[in-house]
Amino acid sequence: MSSSTITPWVVGNWKMNPMQANSQQLIQDLNQYLQQTPITEQQCHIGVAPISIALLSVQKLINDADSPIKVVAQDLSQMAATGAYTGEVSAELLKDSHIDYVLIGHSERRELFGDDVQKIKAKLANALNAGLHVIYCVGESLEQREAGQAEQVVLQQICDLAAVVKVEQWHNIVIAYEPIWAIGTGKTASPQDAQTMHAKIREGLTQITAQAQHTAILYGGSVKPENAVELAACPDINGALVGGASLNAESFYKIAQAFAQTEE
Ligand code: PGA
Repeated sequence: MSSSTITPWVVGNWKMNPMQANSQQLIQDLNQYLQQTPITEQQCHIGVAPISIALLSVQKLINDADSPIKVVAQDLSQMAATGAYTGEVSAELLKDSHIDYVLIGHSERRELFGDDVQKIKAKLANALNAGLHVIYCVGESLEQREAGQAEQVVLQQICDLAAVVKVEQWHNIVIAYEPIWAIGTGKTASPQDAQTMHAKIREGLTQITAQAQHTAILYGGSVKPENAVELAACPDINGALVGGASLNAESFYKIAQAFAQTEE
Protein backbone atom coordinates (compact mmCIF):
# COMPACT_ATOMS: atom_id res chain seq x y z
CA MET A 1 0.00 0.00 0.00
CA SER A 2 1.37 3.39 -0.90
CA SER A 3 2.28 5.84 1.85
CA SER A 4 3.03 8.99 -0.10
CA THR A 5 1.61 11.22 2.63
CA ILE A 6 4.55 10.47 4.92
CA THR A 7 7.16 13.23 5.11
CA PRO A 8 10.49 11.56 4.32
CA TRP A 9 13.49 11.47 6.65
CA VAL A 10 17.12 11.54 5.56
CA VAL A 11 19.48 10.88 8.45
CA GLY A 12 23.28 10.82 8.33
CA ASN A 13 24.83 8.21 10.58
CA TRP A 14 28.36 9.48 11.06
CA LYS A 15 29.34 6.37 13.08
CA MET A 16 32.82 6.73 14.71
CA ASN A 17 33.72 9.67 12.46
CA PRO A 18 34.90 12.41 11.91
CA MET A 19 37.35 14.59 13.90
CA GLN A 20 35.76 17.65 15.63
CA ALA A 21 37.05 20.16 13.08
CA ASN A 22 35.66 18.09 10.22
CA SER A 23 32.28 17.64 11.88
CA GLN A 24 32.03 21.43 12.35
CA GLN A 25 32.95 21.93 8.69
CA LEU A 26 30.44 19.32 7.57
CA ILE A 27 27.61 21.09 9.40
CA GLN A 28 28.70 24.50 8.14
CA ASP A 29 28.73 23.17 4.56
CA LEU A 30 25.35 21.50 4.99
CA ASN A 31 23.87 24.69 6.46
CA GLN A 32 25.20 26.55 3.45
CA TYR A 33 23.57 24.15 0.98
CA LEU A 34 20.32 24.49 2.92
CA GLN A 35 20.54 28.27 2.88
CA GLN A 36 21.19 28.35 -0.87
CA THR A 37 18.42 25.91 -1.78
CA PRO A 38 16.27 25.25 1.28
CA ILE A 39 14.61 21.93 2.00
CA THR A 40 11.62 22.57 4.24
CA GLU A 41 10.51 20.32 7.11
CA GLN A 42 7.37 19.63 5.08
CA GLN A 43 9.52 18.29 2.22
CA CYS A 44 11.98 16.21 4.24
CA HIS A 45 13.22 15.89 7.82
CA ILE A 46 17.01 15.99 7.84
CA GLY A 47 19.05 14.62 10.73
CA VAL A 48 22.67 13.92 11.57
CA ALA A 49 24.00 11.50 14.17
CA PRO A 50 27.46 12.62 15.33
CA ILE A 51 29.70 10.90 17.88
CA SER A 52 28.48 11.53 21.43
CA ILE A 53 31.17 14.09 22.28
CA ALA A 54 30.18 16.18 19.25
CA LEU A 55 26.40 16.16 19.85
CA LEU A 56 26.30 19.50 21.65
CA SER A 57 28.78 21.40 19.47
CA VAL A 58 26.92 20.23 16.36
CA GLN A 59 23.63 21.22 17.94
CA LYS A 60 24.99 24.70 18.73
CA LEU A 61 26.07 25.25 15.11
CA ILE A 62 22.65 24.13 13.92
CA ASN A 63 20.80 26.38 16.38
CA ASP A 64 23.02 29.38 15.67
CA ALA A 65 22.33 29.03 11.94
CA ASP A 66 18.60 28.53 12.53
CA SER A 67 18.99 25.36 10.49
CA PRO A 68 16.26 22.68 10.29
CA ILE A 69 18.74 19.80 10.84
CA LYS A 70 17.89 17.52 13.76
CA VAL A 71 20.60 16.10 16.00
CA VAL A 72 20.39 12.36 16.62
CA ALA A 73 22.30 10.33 19.21
CA GLN A 74 23.81 7.08 17.86
CA ASP A 75 23.00 5.13 20.99
CA LEU A 76 21.88 5.40 24.61
CA SER A 77 22.14 3.41 27.81
CA GLN A 78 19.93 0.50 28.67
CA MET A 79 19.89 2.02 32.18
CA ALA A 80 17.28 4.66 32.95
CA ALA A 81 17.64 8.08 34.58
CA THR A 82 20.92 8.73 36.43
CA GLY A 83 23.15 6.58 38.61
CA ALA A 84 26.44 4.78 39.14
CA TYR A 85 26.84 3.46 35.57
CA THR A 86 30.31 4.48 34.41
CA GLY A 87 30.49 5.39 30.75
CA GLU A 88 26.76 5.41 30.13
CA VAL A 89 24.43 8.14 28.85
CA SER A 90 20.74 7.67 29.57
CA ALA A 91 17.66 8.78 27.67
CA GLU A 92 16.89 11.32 30.38
CA LEU A 93 20.37 12.85 30.09
CA LEU A 94 20.00 13.13 26.30
CA LYS A 95 16.62 14.78 26.73
CA ASP A 96 18.10 17.13 29.34
CA SER A 97 20.65 18.20 26.70
CA HIS A 98 17.82 18.78 24.18
CA ILE A 99 18.87 15.81 22.06
CA ASP A 100 15.46 14.50 21.05
CA TYR A 101 16.31 11.71 18.60
CA VAL A 102 18.21 8.46 18.96
CA LEU A 103 19.18 5.45 16.83
CA ILE A 104 18.45 2.08 18.40
CA GLY A 105 19.25 -1.41 17.17
CA HIS A 106 21.81 -0.56 14.49
CA SER A 107 23.32 -3.82 13.22
CA GLU A 108 26.82 -2.70 14.24
CA ARG A 109 25.63 -2.40 17.84
CA ARG A 110 23.76 -5.69 17.62
CA GLU A 111 26.78 -7.51 16.14
CA LEU A 112 29.78 -5.86 17.76
CA PHE A 113 28.57 -4.47 21.09
CA GLY A 114 26.23 -7.09 22.47
CA ASP A 115 22.96 -5.25 21.87
CA ASP A 116 20.71 -8.29 22.16
CA VAL A 117 16.93 -8.20 22.11
CA GLN A 118 16.68 -7.65 25.85
CA LYS A 119 19.04 -4.65 25.80
CA ILE A 120 17.34 -3.21 22.75
CA LYS A 121 13.94 -3.47 24.41
CA ALA A 122 15.29 -1.71 27.52
CA LYS A 123 16.79 1.04 25.36
CA LEU A 124 13.54 1.44 23.44
CA ALA A 125 11.47 1.68 26.61
CA ASN A 126 13.84 4.20 28.20
CA ALA A 127 13.99 6.35 25.08
CA LEU A 128 10.25 6.41 24.52
CA ASN A 129 9.39 6.95 28.17
CA ALA A 130 11.78 9.92 28.25
CA GLY A 131 9.96 11.38 25.23
CA LEU A 132 12.70 10.76 22.65
CA HIS A 133 11.98 9.96 19.01
CA VAL A 134 13.51 6.66 17.99
CA ILE A 135 14.96 5.54 14.67
CA TYR A 136 14.77 1.77 15.09
CA CYS A 137 17.01 -0.28 12.79
CA VAL A 138 16.17 -3.72 11.45
CA GLY A 139 17.78 -5.90 8.81
CA GLU A 140 18.93 -9.38 7.90
CA SER A 141 22.44 -10.77 7.30
CA LEU A 142 23.53 -12.19 3.97
CA GLU A 143 23.37 -15.69 5.46
CA GLN A 144 19.78 -15.15 6.57
CA ARG A 145 18.82 -13.72 3.18
CA GLU A 146 20.39 -16.64 1.34
CA ALA A 147 18.57 -19.06 3.63
CA GLY A 148 15.27 -17.38 2.68
CA GLN A 149 14.81 -16.02 6.20
CA ALA A 150 15.06 -12.28 5.52
CA GLU A 151 11.37 -11.51 5.95
CA GLN A 152 11.00 -13.64 9.05
CA VAL A 153 14.06 -12.03 10.73
CA VAL A 154 12.92 -8.50 9.97
CA LEU A 155 9.33 -9.10 11.05
CA GLN A 156 10.58 -10.61 14.31
CA GLN A 157 12.58 -7.43 14.91
CA ILE A 158 9.37 -5.46 14.31
CA CYS A 159 7.60 -7.70 16.87
CA ASP A 160 10.40 -6.94 19.37
CA LEU A 161 9.64 -3.27 18.87
CA ALA A 162 5.89 -3.79 19.20
CA ALA A 163 6.40 -5.54 22.53
CA VAL A 164 7.67 -2.28 23.98
CA VAL A 165 5.93 0.62 22.23
CA LYS A 166 2.76 1.93 23.87
CA VAL A 167 -0.16 2.96 21.67
CA GLU A 168 0.49 6.67 22.16
CA GLN A 169 4.24 6.29 21.42
CA TRP A 170 4.03 5.01 17.84
CA HIS A 171 4.14 8.51 16.41
CA ASN A 172 7.66 8.78 17.86
CA ILE A 173 8.92 5.80 15.86
CA VAL A 174 10.77 5.81 12.55
CA ILE A 175 11.96 2.46 11.18
CA ALA A 176 15.14 1.95 9.18
CA TYR A 177 15.47 -1.21 7.11
CA GLU A 178 19.17 -1.88 6.57
CA PRO A 179 20.13 -5.22 5.06
CA ILE A 180 23.45 -5.91 6.81
CA TRP A 181 25.09 -7.10 3.60
CA ALA A 182 24.47 -3.68 2.03
CA ILE A 183 26.01 -1.58 4.82
CA GLY A 184 29.33 -0.02 3.87
CA THR A 185 29.82 -2.58 1.11
CA GLY A 186 28.77 -0.51 -1.90
CA LYS A 187 26.05 -3.13 -2.56
CA THR A 188 22.57 -1.66 -2.39
CA ALA A 189 19.45 -3.77 -2.31
CA SER A 190 17.72 -3.21 -5.64
CA PRO A 191 14.91 -0.66 -5.27
CA GLN A 192 12.47 -3.49 -6.04
CA ASP A 193 13.88 -5.74 -3.29
CA ALA A 194 13.94 -2.86 -0.83
CA GLN A 195 10.37 -1.86 -1.73
CA THR A 196 9.22 -5.48 -1.29
CA MET A 197 10.67 -5.62 2.22
CA HIS A 198 9.35 -2.17 3.11
CA ALA A 199 5.86 -3.21 2.01
CA LYS A 200 6.16 -6.34 4.20
CA ILE A 201 7.23 -4.21 7.15
CA ARG A 202 4.26 -1.89 6.60
CA GLU A 203 1.93 -4.88 6.33
CA GLY A 204 3.37 -6.18 9.61
CA LEU A 205 2.88 -2.78 11.24
CA THR A 206 -0.73 -2.70 10.07
CA GLN A 207 -1.43 -5.70 12.31
CA ILE A 208 0.10 -3.87 15.26
CA THR A 209 -0.65 -0.15 15.11
CA ALA A 210 -3.10 2.31 13.63
CA GLN A 211 -0.02 4.44 12.82
CA ALA A 212 1.22 1.99 10.14
CA GLN A 213 0.31 4.26 7.25
CA HIS A 214 2.02 7.20 8.95
CA THR A 215 5.24 5.50 10.04
CA ALA A 216 8.29 6.44 7.99
CA ILE A 217 10.32 3.41 6.87
CA LEU A 218 13.82 4.42 5.78
CA TYR A 219 16.17 2.38 3.66
CA GLY A 220 19.85 2.13 4.64
CA GLY A 221 22.85 0.44 3.04
CA SER A 222 25.18 2.19 0.59
CA VAL A 223 22.72 4.96 -0.23
CA LYS A 224 24.37 7.61 -2.42
CA PRO A 225 23.21 10.39 -4.74
CA GLU A 226 23.42 7.94 -7.68
CA ASN A 227 20.80 5.55 -6.26
CA ALA A 228 18.74 7.92 -4.09
CA VAL A 229 16.32 9.05 -6.81
CA GLU A 230 15.33 5.50 -7.68
CA LEU A 231 14.95 4.52 -4.03
CA ALA A 232 12.93 7.68 -3.33
CA ALA A 233 10.50 6.76 -6.12
CA CYS A 234 9.41 3.57 -4.28
CA PRO A 235 6.09 4.11 -2.50
CA ASP A 236 7.08 2.51 0.82
CA ILE A 237 10.61 3.93 1.05
CA ASN A 238 10.17 7.10 3.09
CA GLY A 239 13.76 8.22 3.37
CA ALA A 240 17.26 6.99 4.00
CA LEU A 241 19.70 6.26 6.80
CA VAL A 242 23.01 7.18 5.23
CA GLY A 243 26.45 6.15 6.50
CA GLY A 244 29.47 6.76 4.27
CA ALA A 245 27.83 9.28 1.94
CA SER A 246 26.70 11.43 4.89
CA LEU A 247 30.33 12.38 5.59
CA ASN A 248 30.32 14.46 2.43
CA ALA A 249 28.02 17.50 2.65
CA GLU A 250 27.29 17.64 -1.07
CA SER A 251 26.42 13.93 -1.34
CA PHE A 252 24.26 14.02 1.76
CA TYR A 253 22.45 17.17 0.64
CA LYS A 254 21.77 15.61 -2.79
CA ILE A 255 20.28 12.51 -1.14
CA ALA A 256 18.02 14.74 0.98
CA GLN A 257 17.01 16.63 -2.16
CA ALA A 258 16.11 13.38 -3.94
CA PHE A 259 13.70 12.48 -1.16
CA ALA A 260 12.44 16.06 -0.69
CA GLN A 261 11.44 16.18 -4.34
CA THR A 262 9.02 13.29 -3.85
CA GLU A 263 6.97 15.71 -1.71
CA GLU A 264 6.59 18.39 -4.38
P1 PGA B 1 26.39 2.98 4.62
O1 PGA B 1 25.87 2.82 6.16
O2 PGA B 1 25.53 4.04 3.99
O3 PGA B 1 27.81 3.40 4.76
O4 PGA B 1 26.20 1.67 3.98
C1 PGA B 1 24.50 2.85 6.48
C2 PGA B 1 24.32 2.64 7.97
O5 PGA B 1 25.00 1.78 8.55
O6 PGA B 1 23.46 3.28 8.62
